[in-house]
Amino acid sequence: MQITEIYKSLQGESTYAGLPCVFVRLTGCNLRCAWCDSEYTFTGGSRMSPEDVRMEVSRLSPGGGLVEITGGEPMLQERELVPLMQDLMSDGHKLLLETSGERPLRRVPADVVKIVDVKCPDSGEGGTFHVENLQALTPQDEIKFVLSSRADYDFAVEFTRKHDLAARVNAVLFSPAFRKEAAGARAASHCLLDPQQLAEWMLADNIPARLGLQLHKFIWDPAIKGV
Ligand code: SF4
Repeated sequence: MQITEIYKSLQGESTYAGLPCVFVRLTGCNLRCAWCDSEYTFTGGSRMSPEDVRMEVSRLSPGGGLVEITGGEPMLQERELVPLMQDLMSDGHKLLLETSGERPLRRVPADVVKIVDVKCPDSGEGGTFHVENLQALTPQDEIKFVLSSRADYDFAVEFTRKHDLAARVNAVLFSPAFRKEAAGARAASHCLLDPQQLAEWMLADNIPARLGLQLHKFIWDPAIKGV
């Protein structure tokens, strides 16, 4: 497998935010979102066997705990990833899979919590969501919209209502995009969409979604990777 990094930090997003978590970040992505903060994953990384990944996860979090598989787009390495996720669960880990939803998700093991990003228009990758993936969602999964404008918000509201997402998954997450060049101050002013504005829209529309902030970018310098 091609791996960019494996590290332990606090989970920054989703309903698992705040929990200690081992992150396994896979190299490579087939999308190019305008605000992507993970461009360093597009190339490079190290070749590791699934067994090596498993051993490193055990070293960082012996005996179990939360593990997030992320990228890049992890499902580009589906052939090795699916058995690895099964092995990590056998080792006692709870697995989260962060994915763009552009790749088919039907082979993801049932106990893995899928956190599926539906790309909005201003990401530059709108329309890439694989609609059949709605059938692969389970009540433990989460759907995330990263928003940088009112147009993105309107898209997310319409998609949420049209597909009755709140009834399908554990959480629908509306998260302001972060400026990818943000550094230094840990401040909401780095968000491309003001969280206060987003909160006001969500309250006005009574939308069944949860406003999510990237917690790690308010704990550490937003320019730091591997946290
Ligand atoms: S899918 Fe994720 S890793 Fe790929 S370009 Fe978009 S934000 Fe970056």
